[in-house]
Amino acid sequence: MRPRSNPGKRLFILSLDGVPCSFLKEGIAAGRFPNLGRLGEPVEIASTFPPVSSVAWATFSTGVNPGRHGVFGFLELDRATGAETIPTAANLCSPTLWKMLNAQGKRTIVMNVPLTYPPQELDGIMISCFLCPDLARGVTPRSLLPRLRRLDYRIEPDPSLAATDRGAYLGEILATLRAERRVLFDLLPEPWDLFMAHVMMTDRMNHFFWQDGLDPKSEFHEAFLRFYREVDELVGEVDRLLPADVEVFLLSDHGFSSVKAEVDLNALLAQEGYLCYGDGGAGLADIARSSRAYSLIPGRVYLGRSGGNPGSHGTDAQERPTREDIRVLLSRLENGGGKRLLERVVLREEAYSGDCSSLAPDLVLLGSPGYDLKAKTSPGPVMAAPALRSGMHTYGDAFALRRGGTLRPGGTILDATPTVFRLMGLPIPQHLEGTSLLPSRSRR
Ligand SMILES: [Zn+2]
Repeated sequence: MRPRSNPGKRLFILSLDGVPCSFLKEGIAAGRFPNLGRLGEPVEIASTFPPVSSVAWATFSTGVNPGRHGVFGFLELDRATGAETIPTAANLCSPTLWKMLNAQGKRTIVMNVPLTYPPQELDGIMISCFLCPDLARGVTPRSLLPRLRRLDYRIEPDPSLAATDRGAYLGEILATLRAERRVLFDLLPEPWDLFMAHVMMTDRMNHFFWQDGLDPKSEFHEAFLRFYREVDELVGEVDRLLPADVEVFLLSDHGFSSVKAEVDLNALLAQEGYLCYGDGGAGLADIARSSRAYSLIPGRVYLGRSGGNPGSHGTDAQERPTREDIRVLLSRLENGGGKRLLERVVLREEAYSGDCSSLAPDLVLLGSPGYDLKAKTSPGPVMAAPALRSGMHTYGDAFALRRGGTLRPGGTILDATPTVFRLMGLPIPQHLEGTSLLPSRSRR
């Protein structure tokens, strides 16, 4: 754990995907997270639009909004070809935190942070995220690969198990957490200035076992608690191993809540005549060019689809609905009992700014707590009971925490990036958009 360069402080970041601030606070108060409680006090921060990991961590790892880094979700539709694409680090239009730190002479180790596939060549080490199809293609330098194999490193459990064998899936989630822990502590003695380790399994646990965590009668309740006990132990071990002059910063990217119902926006848009499919299918690629709107998960609504120029909304503008019509339709959505299904309908220009915002959705919707926004491409009802997932993301209720220090509440994940530079005692790059979460002596 030698410091690689000076001046400045070393910083260790542990990011816990989708761990809510309220969940941590309740757990600390109940004595379930003794190590987290000792480390510091979590404060609430908000996520991004939409509140999904790829967008939120792309925002953190560039320090700019999606309108400038260019990633708006896990899935995109190529407007020219109709093909589905999965944005990766290759789509980022703005420099990464790791490269910004390298430019300031700081060596960086990055493990498992979403949107780090394909891995960048760094002064340091990068182990890619769950987007990586094969570990051999997800590590720089490649010479690290035998060491990871020896430690039985795992990126992601087999997702099909979530539907077929929940007990086995839970076991794999735990095994993946333990594999990451082995590698983390194996790499810790390497030289670094920033070490960031990302735990993705908290998100998986929360999606598939959130209700089990709340229900003491569930057969998986104890396993849920054991998983979080191990997360807390990991925090304790980090705290014990890192000397007091190393800064320790924890954060999550969005909150979680229980799912009451799934709301399929494409079913609604089809029902209202905005969306139709071509002959022979109902997949994304089959959306008819005459369609006036469609949705991609979660809660992204795009107008039109024809033409090859993203954001141009095609060639028949006069036939397309105004965005206002759709906004009003969506804002009035209710569950049948008078309860609004959407908490917010955000216009593109309210959510994003920058050169890449022409790729942005026209509207971003946040479901009311419990209403999980889907965008299916097969016929079905607008509202349905939750299928596999009992937990859903929330925009609010993410957290940030600094070892032995205080942070200001009320920020967003965009503010975490300048916080990194402040914690390391480094100048904040001018193009970053957020404001540090540290109590302020200067404007940032
Ligand atoms: Zn998730």
